[in-house]
Amino acid sequence: MSGLYIDSHCHLNPEHFPEGADPAIARAHEAGVSHLMVVGGNVASSADAVRTARSHERDGVYAVVGVHPHEASSVTSELPEDLLALARDKSVRAIGETGLDYYYDHSPREAQLSVLSMHLEWARKENLPLVFHVRDAYDDMLAVLRNEGSGLTGVIHCFSGTWEHAAAFLDMGYFLSFSGPVTYAKNEALRSIAARVPDDRILCETDSPYLSPRRTRGKRNEPANVVDVYEIVAGVRGIPVEEFAVRVRENAFRLFHLEENADV
Ligand SMILES: [Zn+2]
Ligand SMILES: [Zn+2]
Repeated sequence: MSGLYIDSHCHLNPEHFPEGADPAIARAHEAGVSHLMVVGGNVASSADAVRTARSHERDGVYAVVGVHPHEASSVTSELPEDLLALARDKSVRAIGETGLDYYYDHSPREAQLSVLSMHLEWARKENLPLVFHVRDAYDDMLAVLRNEGSGLTGVIHCFSGTWEHAAAFLDMGYFLSFSGPVTYAKNEALRSIAARVPDDRILCETDSPYLSPRRTRGKRNEPANVVDVYEIVAGVRGIPVEEFAVRVRENAFRLFHLEENADV
């Protein structure tokens, strides 16, 4: 096992990677990324995530299944059976991404809130952690977790809130994950938050194909680039990147119940 890094959140479906996920996964392995969490946002991309994970069963690739808040209005009274069935696959290690996005408001807020509640119930039933997408909706997200989140765990992916929000999620036992924006020159405030998150609650991700880090900004993002995020965050925390990566690795293993990857 030579790879130290984990990309805790990426999208590799054909819409973004028409050449298939395999080349990006191979480049990630070469860059020292041993594990990838491939995340779905609707039934089709969740099924894709499971397919990709299944075809890389011994390569440290896992799936996360759910309906993105952007697509909440596609869910009527309950989550589709096809989606629920996916969570029973052994490659699936979390439910998501779900959450609230009041920046884009692609789905009405009532629909986002109701679909989020369905995901919390689902995760409880399947005994899986959650991957949350939150944008301009941190107060509502905290309120939902306070009211309905008892016994659940998970990560706020691509965290972009204030330190007060961060502290509130941490107090409730959640993890915070940082991605490309933490590398942007103007994001001093976000870096100062990334510097303060306790060692045992921090994760790193790419959110590929979105949010390319500074070095490759403007290009399609891919899991190999997660190393840039680790370097910047380790830098602001004042520790060597390898040491930081070991901590993050322990966190991801604990949260997602991962296994060592024998082949990378
Ligand atoms: Zn997201
Ligand atoms: Zn995402």
